[in-house]
Amino acid sequence: MATKRDYYEVLGVGKNATDDELKKAYRKLALKYHPDRNPDDKDAEEKFKEAAEAYEVLSNKDKRAKYDQFGHAGVDGQGFGQGAQGMNMDDIFSMFGDIFGGRGGFSGFSGFSGFSSERSRGGRRVNKGSSLRIKVKLTLEDIEKGVEKKIKVNKYVACSDCHGTGAKEGSQTITCSQCNGLGYITQVQRTILGNMQTQSVCPKCAGEGKIIKDKCPTCSGEGIVKKEEVITINIPAGVADGMQLSFAGKGNAGARNGVNGDLIVAIEELPNENFERDGNNICHQTYITIPQAILGATIEVPTLGGVAKFKVEQGMTSGKVYRLRGKGLPDVNGYQRGDLLVRVDVWIPKSYTKEEKKLLETLQASENFKPNPSAKDKSFFEKMKSMFS
Ligand SMILES: [Zn+2]
Ligand SMILES: [Zn+2]
Repeated sequence: MATKRDYYEVLGVGKNATDDELKKAYRKLALKYHPDRNPDDKDAEEKFKEAAEAYEVLSNKDKRAKYDQFGHAGVDGQGFGQGAQGMNMDDIFSMFGDIFGGRGGFSGFSGFSGFSSERSRGGRRVNKGSSLRIKVKLTLEDIEKGVEKKIKVNKYVACSDCHGTGAKEGSQTITCSQCNGLGYITQVQRTILGNMQTQSVCPKCAGEGKIIKDKCPTCSGEGIVKKEEVITINIPAGVADGMQLSFAGKGNAGARNGVNGDLIVAIEELPNENFERDGNNICHQTYITIPQAILGATIEVPTLGGVAKFKVEQGMTSGKVYRLRGKGLPDVNGYQRGDLLVRVDVWIPKSYTKEEKKLLETLQASENFKPNPSAKDKSFFEKMKSMFS
């Protein structure tokens, strides 16, 4: 399967895009790749569907939050699991209701030539801060409940001396004279098809639309400085070792009052002395005595939240695994919870006293303590067979 493109990239918007920006970006793409305009063009149809899928997720607050944290994995299986190919055109058209005012609204799109003016407002380059990557070590207990972490980081923040503008105090930023603050320049060429307009990034201001006369000495005109800061992040329950969470806008500040980059948090799970993790299940191993195995017993085992008791039946076989439902870890998507699997072994003492030996010899002579072949564990042979077949 082809890897899916990032939804923000598909729509050509930043991670901090507002609903309005999303809507505009999607509208532009939907018009460009609309099947009515691109008959029999498979590529356009795929792009049309891809944009619809991206918009469907990002325009929904919950789905967007999940997508921001977990990427495609966070929203797959929630309607668009199969990717764009899984969407049918009717689903897409039904989404147009709030964007174009119903399917019929499409016929009016020839009047939608506000395109260039929209560009002039949004065309200016905005500096995006870089992503900040950190690693967080979590115990299984943290993972079970979810945890708020306060972490000291060294990151770029807006320069307080110039309030992020990059200009020296008293100095001003002036509107770029070459592009009049638009950030791009338009050239008109006469061709046989009529006037053609091309737009390119303004070389004088590098697309920012403004120019700083005197640079702020603290930040050398960048508008950002490195600073130690304590950031608070909420880690949801059920995360796993190696997982990466993305927090939009919590990364480095962008130059000259740009937008913040993202914070990428890599999860590292610390080992636990009581438990081994297996997906959402946790495994524990414990021992009981020979008399307990024969007589049956109620035993106590640790759990992530405290202790749990369960019954070991009379005549238990060593190595049996008991499943304590729901005592494992919650699923990161919040749907289910794993189990606690307890393997119970019989403890065989390595030494014994004279009295114990006497007791054991008495037991050995007892008819009941002789192996009973009819009770042999058949499943053992089944397992052996399947291992070698
Ligand atoms: Zn400064
Ligand atoms: Zn310029």
